[in-house]
Amino acid sequence: ENPIDELFMEKPDIGFADVGGMAEVKREIALKIIQPLQHPELYKAYGKKIGGGILLYGPPGCGKTYIARATAGEINARFISISLNEILDMWIGNSEKNLHQFFELARRNAPCVLFIDEVDALGASRSQMKNSGSSTVINQFLAEMDGIQNSNEGVLILGATNMPWNLDPAFRRPGRFDRILFVPPPDEEARLEILKQQLKEKPQGKVDFSKLASKTQEYSGADLKAIIDVAIEEKLEESFKTGNISPLETKDLLKGVKKHKATTKEW
Ligand code: ATP
Repeated sequence: ENPIDELFMEKPDIGFADVGGMAEVKREIALKIIQPLQHPELYKAYGKKIGGGILLYGPPGCGKTYIARATAGEINARFISISLNEILDMWIGNSEKNLHQFFELARRNAPCVLFIDEVDALGASRSQMKNSGSSTVINQFLAEMDGIQNSNEGVLILGATNMPWNLDPAFRRPGRFDRILFVPPPDEEARLEILKQQLKEKPQGKVDFSKLASKTQEYSGADLKAIIDVAIEEKLEESFKTGNISPLETKDLLKGVKKHKATTKEW
């Protein structure tokens, strides 16, 4: 194995059960990309075409990357993650070769989930960038996606963006990102699940999760994690003085809520 490959590849140890909320997103991912891999004969019986990728969009920190990793974990597949901005920035002039190598890496490691973040980096419509060289990269990207689609090799493509409206319509043709799913900020029930999940292995006393969930409207999953981090830092400062480990309680977490503000308001 090329050690560089390892940088972009992992075998996630989380599954759908670790993702709070998102019932609809889980259902769509199962139907569109997991089941076709596991039961191709059923799709064939109904004459339903398989293939194509899913594009996830929504506010930052609400779990697009997390659910993509969980998708790989769910089917015991590898997870390969790239950000298009990284590809475009890091190897200026060499983007096409790098793109090809990533798709090759995915093929060699099938079954796998290939997660492409910041798809909008190739967003602006091709006509706008005719002269910039980016259009070649877009065309190459689309050709690579078509190649995966046609060969049916067990590479599942998930993309993510915060700005779906910037995307060239060519990305959305059948076999490419032909399903677009909104990953919403977590609702109250989902926030409760996420908080429980994130606190699972931490020292905790009596925690009123319902109260915390109701006081964290517009908080993303990442925000909820940040609340817990803030609360833990305070606990640590206490522990430095006393030498004791005191468990996290509702009031500690509420302090965290005060200190860390919600980030999903504008959605
Ligand atoms: P960005 O647009 O900034 O890339 P994102 O939507 O990809 O954001 P993630 O990176 O997946 O967001 O989420 C950040 C972290 O928040 C995750 O690593 C995870 O720990 C936590 N998190 C977010 N949503 C959930 C969720 N639904 N369930 C459990 N944890 C979550």
